[in-house]
Amino acid sequence: MSELILNCESFNKILDGRKISIKEYYQVFKISKENPDELFKTAKILQNKNHGKVVTFSKKAFFNLVNLCRDTCTYCTYKAEPGESKLSLMSKEDVQNLSKLAKKYRCVEALFVTGERPEERYSLAREWLDQNGFSSTFEYLVHASEIALNAGLFPHTNAGNLTKDEMRELRKTNPSMGLMLENVSERLTEKGMPHHLAPSKNPNERLRVLEESGQLKIPMTTGILVGIGETPFEVIDSIFAIKDIHERYGNIQEVILQNFNPKSDTLMKDYPSADENYFKTVVALARIIMPQMNIQIPPNLSPTSYSSFLSVGINDWGGISPITPDYVNPEFSWPEIKKIEENCLKAGYELKCRFPVYPEFFNMVESTLVEKMLSINDGENLVRNDYWR
Ligand code: SF4
Repeated sequence: MSELILNCESFNKILDGRKISIKEYYQVFKISKENPDELFKTAKILQNKNHGKVVTFSKKAFFNLVNLCRDTCTYCTYKAEPGESKLSLMSKEDVQNLSKLAKKYRCVEALFVTGERPEERYSLAREWLDQNGFSSTFEYLVHASEIALNAGLFPHTNAGNLTKDEMRELRKTNPSMGLMLENVSERLTEKGMPHHLAPSKNPNERLRVLEESGQLKIPMTTGILVGIGETPFEVIDSIFAIKDIHERYGNIQEVILQNFNPKSDTLMKDYPSADENYFKTVVALARIIMPQMNIQIPPNLSPTSYSSFLSVGINDWGGISPITPDYVNPEFSWPEIKKIEENCLKAGYELKCRFPVYPEFFNMVESTLVEKMLSINDGENLVRNDYWR
């Protein structure tokens, strides 16, 4: 029996390493709604037990390769229409130049983001691909990843629902990849809901990609968007769906919990931001459901309170860029890395820089990429302090 006896039997069971059912987790949410203290306490104990007093981040450059998108999610401001000032169509030269700049600033990760198969919907995307000598966004991603890798960066691609063959090809240059599950609820794809016009957000499609990445043993980052009209139970179901894939394939390296913030140029512009207490409860639930998982919140989306999440279960800040904006949340700039480090220290945590792939997943990465990482590896599969500082 654990030394710390909490009032709730479920928490004591969790701390003793015993399994509790999904129904008991629903119950935990209900109990914690009014008073989350015991939930937070349990999450923090599990965080410290599994990750110690270390919190990580990835120093990155955000390559907004193409932000035309076949789909429409009603909360998304990343997606552009032809002619809009935010439209991004990076040329090979743009990729070269940003790679060089990122290397100069000692970034480690090249985050490649695109909309969902833009060439299926826009002639502009097809022309742009043609001008660069490619027939699909995927083909271009392979090339762009090679450019970044040759410049000394490590690509991490987040390009929507890739096929198994596409992921197999991309793993040659990408130590890890990403795909947000968002939420496992099919209800959110119904008429009037955020994913109604986004077939790629169909939960079965997303789970298919995550599952195939598992079959390929690709370290995968996924996550949940919190506050888009889901119920708390649908969030718990989503965490369980991720847990299930990880139990079967062992390749989910990180779960991002992203709090919804309305964007003024979207259909959800009047929808409220995710309530911070609710968001913290979700973070803590993720920690107690998956005690060993790497759990991330983006610090720019909680600019005044991000360090308080160190008390509810997180152990990572995700990618932070000293040179490029967060094109998915352009109204929230990233805090300075130095400032984050100060705040971590104040909370009793040491900040360390990781590669896009987490240390414990290096055994899944192509050996050629592991070799390339050697020169800036600190010996524990994190980035050497003297490199990133
Ligand atoms: S969130 Fe992704 S899939 Fe949805 S509209 Fe934006 S770019 Fe497209």
